Amino acid sequence: MNIRIGYGIDVHRLEVGIPLFLGGIQIESDLGAVGHSDADVLLHAICDALLGAANLRDIGYHFSDTDPQFKGIDSKILLDRVMKLVIDKGYSVGNIDCTVIMERPKLNPHIPEMQEVIAKILKVDFDAVSIKASTHEKVDSFGESRAVKAYAACLITS
Ligand code: MG
Repeated sequence: MNIRIGYGIDVHRLEVGIPLFLGGIQIESDLGAVGHSDADVLLHAICDALLGAANLRDIGYHFSDTDPQFKGIDSKILLDRVMKLVIDKGYSVGNIDCTVIMERPKLNPHIPEMQEVIAKILKVDFDAVSIKASTHEKVDSFGESRAVKAYAACLITS
């Protein structure tokens, strides 16, 4: 069995009055993430982790943030396309482990729904998708709710 690891990191700026998409779902919040797509920082980090594990470059290589076809796109579509690339290269996902750094809103009540959505796209069991929520202790841009960051690690096998 060929076992490979990958990791991904993403950051988006937060602004008042725009929708917040995270982990493939919309979350009620006074702050939303700014981006060319729907700015789902968690799904973008997962995309980069999977692409890295399969040595398929990065999310910006496949989905340019200046290409009008990706303007406002649902990042679940991007993750689904990444999974197709990973599968085409002969791999399947073992598990992923992620952390989202965000001061507010509290993410824990939303994590099971995110796990369900992501597991379906990655074609894995619910138990193979770990999502952790953390804050930045009110320090720096993340702690001051000016930005959101996500980390993702994954294991793929062939
Ligand atoms: Mg991004």
